[in-house]
Amino acid sequence: MRYNQEIYRKAEKELENRRENAKALASLHREEVIERCPELTVIEEQMKSAVTDATALLGKRENVEQALSILQRQNLQAQKDREELLRISDFPADYLEPQYECPLCDDKGYTEGRYCICHIDLLRKYAYEELSKTAPLAKCTFDNFDLNFYPIEKNPDTGVSTRDWMKTVLSYCTKYAETFSLDSNNMHFCGRTGLGKTHLSLAIANVVTKKGFNVIYVSAPNMLRRLEREHFSRYSDETSEDFYLDCDLLIIDDLGTEFKTSFSETALYSIINERLLSGSPVIINSNLSVEELDERYGERLASRIGSYDLVTFKGSDVRQLKENKGL
Ligand SMILES: [Zn+2]
Repeated sequence: MRYNQEIYRKAEKELENRRENAKALASLHREEVIERCPELTVIEEQMKSAVTDATALLGKRENVEQALSILQRQNLQAQKDREELLRISDFPADYLEPQYECPLCDDKGYTEGRYCICHIDLLRKYAYEELSKTAPLAKCTFDNFDLNFYPIEKNPDTGVSTRDWMKTVLSYCTKYAETFSLDSNNMHFCGRTGLGKTHLSLAIANVVTKKGFNVIYVSAPNMLRRLEREHFSRYSDETSEDFYLDCDLLIIDDLGTEFKTSFSETALYSIINERLLSGSPVIINSNLSVEELDERYGERLASRIGSYDLVTFKGSDVRQLKENKGL
């Protein structure tokens, strides 16, 4: 899992807030207890002075062990007095302790030098939110991919209807998402506009992001515009190119609709080629077939995309059908 720095920062900040809230609440509880039982402050004083005396003793050489043992007893007694005070005043035994949301790490985010599950959950949550800013993730799921918009009439030559074909595509994509790993195949979703390429690629993004992988979904025009802008005014250490190269799954929508320049061609080739060399999965949505990609971009890029698994989308423009039906 690799996320951009902003996602890590947000998760750290949230953990810090949780720790502070837990401490602030414990402090309010203390005031509440003191108001009802002012003797708590005396007990706290005893505990504090036991610790201070023990620290001072450590600097001396004689009778340290004996003195430390006395102080330890005093401290334990003070703790028992505090427990008793809470009990007889009908406060829960842990009322003065900070109540952290995660008992595994006390909201520190790490256990035994590794990310705690609470920290991982936060990273996933912020990655999903981040992706949702650029794509209608919640609207595009496998469950709401409606096969009824695809014709049921069988092709006389193949005996297969468009709906059956798309049913196979849907189940292929579902399986891809459910079994996604960093070794998953690349896919080229090919077909005319409005046949569900964006919907199914976002449905994959939805599942894969929730599994904890870092997914970037971007349209080819936006990706290339952003890269060009950054290339000519570079000011940040972390650029979009790093995200496009480092993410676990890169989904490029609408390839072939971007304005073609020599920069865009080089940048596109570089992203596709680098990810192919590093074995990092990519899904490309395009109206263009491999032959048409060859015509537009040349053999070098087309041959790379030609090595992807080709998933052909068939049917009539679903968006148009939905609009006609008022959906
Ligand atoms: Zn935790």
